Amino acid sequence: MDKESLDIGTLDGYQFEDLVTKILKKRGYRELRSAPRSGDLGKDIIMTGPAGEVIIVECKHQHFVGRPIVQKLQGAMSHERTLHINKPIKGIIVTSGKFSDEAIEYRKQIQEEIELIDGKGLKELCKQLDIHILNGKVQIITNKCFKYINEIRAKKISFDAYSKIYGHERNKISVKAIPEFIPVCYLAHQINFDTYTSIGRVDRYSAKDRLILEGETGHDVDEKLADFFFSKDFVDTEIEKKYTRNKIPFEFTENDIEEQVLGRIIKAHAHSVHYRGANNVTYTKSCIPKKSDIDLTQFVSIYLPVWKNRAKIQQMEYAQNFYSKEESVLFVKDEFKICKICERSEDKYEEMSVCPECGRIVCNTHVKIDYLDKTTPICTIHAQSFKLFLQNKYFATKENRSKYKEVWESMNFFKKIYEDKIVLGLSVLGIVLLIWFLAHYL
Ligand SMILES: [Zn+2]
Ligand SMILES: [Zn+2]
Repeated sequence: MDKESLDIGTLDGYQFEDLVTKILKKRGYRELRSAPRSGDLGKDIIMTGPAGEVIIVECKHQHFVGRPIVQKLQGAMSHERTLHINKPIKGIIVTSGKFSDEAIEYRKQIQEEIELIDGKGLKELCKQLDIHILNGKVQIITNKCFKYINEIRAKKISFDAYSKIYGHERNKISVKAIPEFIPVCYLAHQINFDTYTSIGRVDRYSAKDRLILEGETGHDVDEKLADFFFSKDFVDTEIEKKYTRNKIPFEFTENDIEEQVLGRIIKAHAHSVHYRGANNVTYTKSCIPKKSDIDLTQFVSIYLPVWKNRAKIQQMEYAQNFYSKEESVLFVKDEFKICKICERSEDKYEEMSVCPECGRIVCNTHVKIDYLDKTTPICTIHAQSFKLFLQNKYFATKENRSKYKEVWESMNFFKKIYEDKIVLGLSVLGIVLLIWFLAHYL
């Protein structure tokens, strides 16, 4: 880690405290409560550890921490012990500076479990927990990602899709598969609060929810995408080294995201209740959660893998973008289903054809089938037409067209009429009319 990624010198005391809280949360501790900021009571933050232990954290954003601070914490721990009789009590002193020799010596002498973390230790801890701090904010730098299919499988998806398109065997295709990693933040949260008036409690509110934000823009992740990735438990993995450049960086810090999210959660869960006062009059009371009523139970920063396949058929290029979660994929762009002539999009690959002349994938309206061999598709731009009496016939090649021309010219008159479906149709209609006329007027 470079120096810039752990720049704590610019923080004020409160920011330092918030930072320490965040770091300890990543260690698996949960915040129980913050002590009042005014007046130094010898304890700043109370947390609880995975084993149920109570941890008193003392933050000292100063150059030097002496023995009196350790003694103060010791006192605070004794007090806390009277509140939590059966729970182990632990103390932590975190400083951006150093501990004096006396402080370290005193800590060794006493029978309390107190951890001392100095500026150097804090940096070490950040390194271990992959925490990067810039301007006092926790930068999100992670390598965590949903498990994704590999390049070979990703390419196979394009090849398989192409094999369903009519005429595919007449055109070679090349596919490049490049992954991209989209940063998102997943925040699970709980809201619990009661609302009181002069007559007592009028509302008890409890809710659980989640928010998933794009780490680049801060916007909500598309609902379909959110469900695809977060509907079940997921397996995460590390992004391979060779794809480091394919990661889109998080533009927001954890602090920014939390701040934004807390405001939204408050709005989303604010409501009002009606209650009857002592005088039998009905009143309305707004119930609005406070920041401290919100418990961010999970903050996961993770990348969503999306494969960006680029296929080339002759000079034509096609994009296929799909998200990947283990073996399943979610398409967000599929140009194999978009007609290169009219740009209309179809539902199935089976409705598309590929032109052997130009490599355009086209819809049923923009494809002709060679009239001579009855199989070769050709786009309407490259189809060779030959006019009979009224009807046009289409061919994939000039050769097929001239071959047919010879056949046509050698036909007798009745065969020619049979061949031109428009003339044939008109003739049948004419005969029907003639019979009808004769039957009525003769
Ligand atoms: Zn079309
Ligand atoms: Zn064509």
